[in-house]
Amino acid sequence: MSDGRPLVPDPIRVLLAGACGRMGQELTKALRKAPGILLVAAVDPAGAGSDLGEVVFGRPSGLVIDSEVAPSIHHHRPHVLVDFTRPEAVMENVRTALGRQVACVVGTTGLSEADVEEVRQLCTQHRTPAVIAPNFALGACLMMRFAAQAAEHYEYAQIIEYHHEKKKDAPSGTAVSTAQAMHAARGGDLVAAEAEVLTVPGSLGGTIGGIGLHAVRMPGFVAEQEVLLGGEGEVLRIRHSASSRDCFVQGVLLATRRVLELDGLVYGLEQLL
Ligand code: NAP
Repeated sequence: MSDGRPLVPDPIRVLLAGACGRMGQELTKALRKAPGILLVAAVDPAGAGSDLGEVVFGRPSGLVIDSEVAPSIHHHRPHVLVDFTRPEAVMENVRTALGRQVACVVGTTGLSEADVEEVRQLCTQHRTPAVIAPNFALGACLMMRFAAQAAEHYEYAQIIEYHHEKKKDAPSGTAVSTAQAMHAARGGDLVAAEAEVLTVPGSLGGTIGGIGLHAVRMPGFVAEQEVLLGGEGEVLRIRHSASSRDCFVQGVLLATRRVLELDGLVYGLEQLL
């Protein structure tokens, strides 16, 4: 410690939770090539006991996948947990890691406001930092920023998000964050869409602060979102498309390199840009 900030280890030892999943496999490829980062452990009940290299590259790497985070931390001594698992698994992984002073980079979506608040308190209690980002893509962060800026000028807004059919949660964490940022920027509710006769229940979508939320789930999409803002005689559309998971990977590497310098919880990749 020279200026009161912790020294960042070189290499940063990383435990990847959800390593066999869609994001986990992309992150395995990137983390193994990233300078200054060493992937020392992988956790995923789906592949527990298998060699991670066999799962991702089709050839052994010597890194055996563990079934749980606690013994994996004990055995491999990581500095950072990167979590891309499931909404019902992430909080237990994060509690386990922060309780052992392992910093966290969380991409898993579906966390409630109470979950985020709990992570904030755990970071303070254990003096260990964390980053939670519902979207690690640069363009998605900019989309959220532009949508919040535009919400100051429009009374009507709708968010339509499109994901692959296997996504577990709806609406997406990005859609919820976008709506919250727009609501905060406007300083109050927008005008919610209404229909005098609703023949199909739910056809107006859900709402946050008067902003309509619509989730589309079907094969062919990775992750896309369109924000519509309506005024007299005009519609402003702000759209971001992730055509591959590569766009999330760069944001995760950035957060992994930065998290150990942070104090407490940082929510949103835009805070690190
Ligand atoms: P996925 O393909 O279903 O992968 C999740 C993996 O985690 C599965 O192999 C799953 O195993 C495993 N898992 C379940 N419980 C676990 C536990 N307790 N510890 C470790 N691993 C566990 O999902 P994905 O598409 O990769 O997405 C993962 C998460 O990241 C989702 O919440 C998604 O919304 C989010 N995501 C975020 C961003 C972002 O930028 N923030 C980008 C893309 C995706 P089982 O199948 O056996 O349960």
